[in-house]
Amino acid sequence: MEKGRYAQIIINISHENVDRPYTYLIPDSLYDLVEVGVSVEVPFGAGNKIRKGIVVDIVDKADYPDDKLKYIESVPTKDISLNDQRIMLAAWLKKNYGCTMIQALKTVLPVKAKVKEALKKTLIRKVSLEELDSYIEVALRKKNVAQLRLLYSLKEDEELPMNLVTDKLHISRPTINKLIDMGIIEESAERVFRSSIKKDYGSDTALSLSPQQKAVVDTIKEDFSGGNPKTYLLHGITGSGKTEVYMQVISDFLNIGKKAIVLIPEIALTYQTLMRFYKRFGNRIGVMNSTLTSGEKYDLFEQCANGQIDVVIGPRSALFVPFDDLGIIVIDEEHEGSYKSEQMPKYHARETAIEIARMKGASVLLGSATPSVDSYYRCETGEYKLFELNKRLTGNQLPNVTIADLREELREGNRSILSRRLQELMTDRLEKGEQIMLFLNRRGVAGFVSCRACGFVVKCPHCDVSLSLHSGGKMVCHYCGYTEAEYKNCPKCGSKYILGFKAGTEQVEETVRKMYPKARTLRMDADTTKDRDSYEKILSSFLDKEADVLIGTQMIVKGHDFKNVTLVGVLAADMSLFANDFRAPERTFQLLTQAAGRAGRGESAGEVVIQTYQPEHYCINHALNQDYKGFYEEEIGYRELMDYPPAAHMLSVLFSSKNESEAARLADNISDMLKKRFDGIRVLGPSAASISKINDVYRFVLYIKHAEYASLVEYKDSMEEYLLNNKHFNVSVMFDFDPQNII
Ligand code: ADP
Ligand code: ZN
Ligand code: ZN
Repeated sequence: MEKGRYAQIIINISHENVDRPYTYLIPDSLYDLVEVGVSVEVPFGAGNKIRKGIVVDIVDKADYPDDKLKYIESVPTKDISLNDQRIMLAAWLKKNYGCTMIQALKTVLPVKAKVKEALKKTLIRKVSLEELDSYIEVALRKKNVAQLRLLYSLKEDEELPMNLVTDKLHISRPTINKLIDMGIIEESAERVFRSSIKKDYGSDTALSLSPQQKAVVDTIKEDFSGGNPKTYLLHGITGSGKTEVYMQVISDFLNIGKKAIVLIPEIALTYQTLMRFYKRFGNRIGVMNSTLTSGEKYDLFEQCANGQIDVVIGPRSALFVPFDDLGIIVIDEEHEGSYKSEQMPKYHARETAIEIARMKGASVLLGSATPSVDSYYRCETGEYKLFELNKRLTGNQLPNVTIADLREELREGNRSILSRRLQELMTDRLEKGEQIMLFLNRRGVAGFVSCRACGFVVKCPHCDVSLSLHSGGKMVCHYCGYTEAEYKNCPKCGSKYILGFKAGTEQVEETVRKMYPKARTLRMDADTTKDRDSYEKILSSFLDKEADVLIGTQMIVKGHDFKNVTLVGVLAADMSLFANDFRAPERTFQLLTQAAGRAGRGESAGEVVIQTYQPEHYCINHALNQDYKGFYEEEIGYRELMDYPPAAHMLSVLFSSKNESEAARLADNISDMLKKRFDGIRVLGPSAASISKINDVYRFVLYIKHAEYASLVEYKDSMEEYLLNNKHFNVSVMFDFDPQNII
């Protein structure tokens, strides 16, 4: 098909215009040069002033007759400006993840909005350090933990930004007011450049590195100065000094006039982490988070472009700050699922970081205690360079992890959610006044069916993922649509305890309340965190020891240090293990390792009890021994066998519509079209998505696998073309490359 004669052009990317493309004619002389993402010059407005624009689409029909349209003036080919580089990045996102150019541009460019100058509030200490100590003593005696947190912080820093105090230290307004009334602190508001942090947070100096740490810092520096920047993976247990490495690598880059981007999962963007960076880099840091208004975000981007900021810390969208001299992108906790966007374009921050680094000649440093199988695989294939840090640099002991076999519990007549071992330890901790976390992972679990007596799990014979129980007694595979009737008895051991797993956090809380009537419980799950700040409230209340037991879903295991927690119970490790998703064992391994890390952050070593029906499963076994390598070897063998990422690539295509039959028909048509056009293509489905209907919108899904990513891009392009030629379907289509979740 020849390309169209009309170009849709966005004039002057001044951010607010991104939404509105104008149509221009492409002159024959420029026909070969005009492509999506190319920067052009066009006459604009009544005076036909020449303006810069970006081609976002090329079409073969226009809404106006030709004589009402103007021609593109020229395609300048001089040096690529910063903006043009971002347009190229947007084009790359569009090509590799499947979305419109406008969606891609909106992803890389912040929206300009006129916002009033903001007032920035700070708390300032008004008393001497000696006086502060006496207040601390009083607070200690009164066990006023919230006050203590603030007082201790004031001991380290004379001035604290208000938002850090409230959001990260979890200190409530009444507590702050109390200290103001007592004359210990004063509140000040001043006009500032919205997102900047101007205060002096004190400073610290670089630690002298261990030989292992030094090797990382030196290699990255040498590779870069030798004109050969690479992607590195730093695999190191918590406390092994990864953050110190990040900071020293960044220092090296700043020293040669380069800039750095640090990605941290939003949930781990804690006060402690930020303070470490402030102390090392002071005013040169910019922080991005999801609570920034679009105006604040815009300011931050301006400051980056102006050279006022050298280091930006934030979640995945911080990747797009406009640094001219980018030297390095650091991605901490690189295995985190939140690095993949859930909106179109569904880009992965890791791959996008590597592309940005390629465009700018920068390095990429990934770090994790439990690296993603994807990244570890890329180290094995030589794409990334691997470094290991295997020693803890602080004295803290690793927790003691034990397994409770739930089959055994059933045999011994214990049908409670809590194993006897866990009950025993809970009694002990409650007596001592220490805190407990109970963790129930329900992520991606749509009622997998398992045998309580022997641990058998019903799986799809074609996909090797667990089947999900649907109403009407059917078990369904969400990859391929395979369906089977529910079993009456376990095919392995004959027991009648073969059931869909239903336990939720509410049931757990009920059980705990019945067994331990005196224990104060808190529950954190999707239901209790609907309000904007309820998440922070629950955490601070637990931090303030207003509860003995925190019961929750995966959101409780991440990023927070609870020094008084000495017992962690993982109630049903299998639940996440047999989610109908090929990444389930990986996620389970990571979660178990992380959950274990929650215990014993303070002085005393903690205890972790992992309850499971499958103690022999490789992922539980290796988590018990904290053996990443062992886990990886088994997991990658399985991925290779099944052609799952990273051994091959996978594209999921989601069709959703209020009209069920139309969505199904389009999915069928597309599947047929692909099979006709591409010989030997491996298409699975279409089948109903695991959540087959949301809000009366029906969802169908296709999966396609191929060894080469480029082939999947080709398939995607031909689907896009098909959709363009069949616009009458009232169905929304979303692409997801190497999906994190099965839909
Ligand atoms: P990670 O990011 O891997 O969890 P950190 O960088 O936070 O590890 O380091 C853990 C602790 O060890 C911190 O208290 C840090 O100050 C300390 N630490 C890190 N590197 C060194 C070093 N080279 N010498 C002494 N202490 C160190
Ligand atoms: Zn299947
Ligand atoms: Zn059985």
